[in-house]
Amino acid sequence: MDFSKYKKSTASVWAGETDPFTNGAVTTPIINSVAFAYDDLDEWHKVATGKADGYIYSRNTNPTVHVLEEKIRILEKAEAATSFATGMGAISNTLFALLAPGKRVVSIKDTYGGASRLFLDFLPRYQIQATLCGTTDFDELEAEIAKGCDVLYLETPTNPTLKVVDIKRLSAAAKKVGAITVVDNTFATPINQNPLALGADLVIHSATKFLGGHSDAMGGILCGTKALVEKVFQFREINGASLQADPAYMIARGMKTLELRIERQNTSALTIARYLKAHPKVSDVFYPGLESHPGHDIAKAQMSGFGGILSFSLVGGYENVRKFLPQLQFVHLAASLGSVSTLAGPPRTTSHVELTEEQRLLLGIPESLIRYSVGIENVEDLIGDLDNALASL
Ligand SMILES: *Cc1c(COP(=O)(O)O)cnc(C)c1O
Repeated sequence: MDFSKYKKSTASVWAGETDPFTNGAVTTPIINSVAFAYDDLDEWHKVATGKADGYIYSRNTNPTVHVLEEKIRILEKAEAATSFATGMGAISNTLFALLAPGKRVVSIKDTYGGASRLFLDFLPRYQIQATLCGTTDFDELEAEIAKGCDVLYLETPTNPTLKVVDIKRLSAAAKKVGAITVVDNTFATPINQNPLALGADLVIHSATKFLGGHSDAMGGILCGTKALVEKVFQFREINGASLQADPAYMIARGMKTLELRIERQNTSALTIARYLKAHPKVSDVFYPGLESHPGHDIAKAQMSGFGGILSFSLVGGYENVRKFLPQLQFVHLAASLGSVSTLAGPPRTTSHVELTEEQRLLLGIPESLIRYSVGIENVEDLIGDLDNALASL
């Protein structure tokens, strides 16, 4: 059944789930089988060599995992999708599958900390040149792309200062030099943004975050053209960073409520951003939904909602951050984001913990920043909580 013609909320629930499951089960069974048996040797050989559809071995493909891949494939309007054990599995497999010694990747300074580590430490060990440009300096990015590159790697909105990157403009520049554009769409989710429709070739998700949505399973997804996804899939099969059936089930289950959660988080985050913006003890608020945000116009053009994450800094610097955060009641002070419960923390213990303080400063991440990932709690309760903690400063 072709779910691409239906709305996202319908596809989130139904896509991938049309197989007649055993005993008429109305939800995806968790198939923890490592291998899949065949009575007919010729049929087995056909499937094993890719000449017929089917399952052989769960490092390569698995029926439960396939249901999840189908859901995201449809939501991202992609030809193909594959999955990984974690979001970093998706990012590193994609980069290592597409690049080789002598190749060049252009990216931005504000990528997720793990991706930054790949650009700053690991890719250079293989003579792969990574050039990181000012995240919203599109002229600089275009100039670096025009010098010639193989991959353009973007993330938007960025972690943790919610900068907005113009996907349409930069992917067009990449196309001119024959480079592949990869976009990490974790913060926006496919409900708020579809990078492939804006000109990107590949989209990555840390499914650990909003897609799963309950902070109880890890996974990564890659979507895009059949040829490119196949190229990365072949590397992942051998690299072995495969998603297991149990977390795939949890993520697919979470995805059934994706649109409901994202709509709530979009609305609450904007309300909270406006509240913080007006508070005298808050020195800066970063949220693309605010008219005052420098990337607001691009965000309006390329996103249908502004997402559930914002960040802000307090008057009084890191000392006040230390006083403020432990007083919040409806917040887990924890790494990660995109969950039903609100999560917050400073980048130096969350998104950019992989980097040294020096590297964080180099990337322009203030030590006094707080990243706040809005959950699905009642927004008045969340604001009351923030209000109490701010009043104590
Ligand atoms: C968390 C995150 C990742 C990494 O995902 P894991 O599932 O933790 O490996 C990558 N990109 C972004 C934007 C993230 O927030």
